[in-house]
Amino acid sequence: MSGKDVVDLSATCTCCRMEFAFKGPRTAYVVPKRCQPCEGHKLDGSAAERIAALEGHAARALALARSAMDKARQFAKDKETALEDHKMSQRASYRSHKRREWVERRMIAVLDVHTDSETDSMCGCGLPAPCPTTRALEEFDREHPDPDYTGFIYQPPRGRPRPPHRPGQI
Ligand SMILES: [Zn+2]
Ligand SMILES: [Zn+2]
Ligand SMILES: [Zn+2]
Repeated sequence: MSGKDVVDLSATCTCCRMEFAFKGPRTAYVVPKRCQPCEGHKLDGSAAERIAALEGHAARALALARSAMDKARQFAKDKETALEDHKMSQRASYRSHKRREWVERRMIAVLDVHTDSETDSMCGCGLPAPCPTTRALEEFDREHPDPDYTGFIYQPPRGRPRPPHRPGQI
């Protein structure tokens, strides 16, 4: 048989009744009646030969069940890990969202005390306008102008700049 015509096939063993894989030509192949471990089995032989064959089947069935169990266990573990990762990232984004909300509310609480009117000579806080708080805010705005969000380019997690939040801008 030429290499490129050889494909992976499967058949059911007439001895152990388990499915087994074999390689053969795509067309007109001869299906092996038995899997390799069953080659020497004599189910119609002497008592000792029958016992040996059945023991061989039992051992392989057990090994198969074990590996299936291991796979199932590993699958469950992987699923658990993925779920945990998902929960963690969800918690992290919930926390950062809550944190931004809190910072914003805090800022609003501060601003409530300071009226920012150009005509008033006194700030709401009782100091001559503009009071140090208002001046600090104005200075902040000068140093950190409102960023141009339209130029925002998504970057993969971490190292992604978090756009600063400005008070009153929700
Ligand atoms: Zn077999
Ligand atoms: Zn067998
Ligand atoms: Zn003030």
